[in-house]
Amino acid sequence: MTTEKTRTIGYLCPSCRKKVIRDRSAFALAASGAAVNCECGRSSLTIDAEERRFRLSVPCGVCGGEHSAVLDANRLLEGKGVGLGCPQTKQLCCFIGEGYEVEREMERLSLAADKEATRGEDGELFVDSVIMHEVLSELKEIAAREHGISCACGSERYAMEVRPTYVDLICAGCGARLRIDAATDEDLDRLCCHWTLRIKGK
Ligand SMILES: [Zn+2]
Ligand SMILES: [Zn+2]
Ligand SMILES: [Zn+2]
Repeated sequence: MTTEKTRTIGYLCPSCRKKVIRDRSAFALAASGAAVNCECGRSSLTIDAEERRFRLSVPCGVCGGEHSAVLDANRLLEGKGVGLGCPQTKQLCCFIGEGYEVEREMERLSLAADKEATRGEDGELFVDSVIMHEVLSELKEIAAREHGISCACGSERYAMEVRPTYVDLICAGCGARLRIDAATDEDLDRLCCHWTLRIKGK
């Protein structure tokens, strides 16, 4: 017996601040992508299916902007879930995966975004470990430098995927990724010796 596999897509509406959480069948996603709209009608997340990858455009409830990302198809369609980070604030702004995981991440995201809005705190609620927090703030510093984060393909736009033990920087131009380990003190030391970061390109 097979049950149709679904993926849950969640983001925070920059306009009305509500959580937007919708299910889509993995089959439909792979075939034609998806558009997920907030019920207020003022924001929409789009997923365009390309050959073996997806191009996403994500309204960001953290900085109020809009971010694009390229994800390999299996990352979006398989596994517990994948978080996309806001390049401006280095915080998660979108989560796609299993329903339960997405609900949980979105709950944390909206709590933290409320805090952000009222206190201007940086996002320690998003990450469990101190090291991850340090790594994200170091990345923020690197990104603030001129050509701080760039790709060999020439693009300086990128998305961030935040996982429990690492962060991937994903070039918005070619989809290449650079993995930043974020589990130990050594990982942090290694990152801190970089003045800039360069994604290798595809
Ligand atoms: Zn809305
Ligand atoms: Zn943002
Ligand atoms: Zn690139």
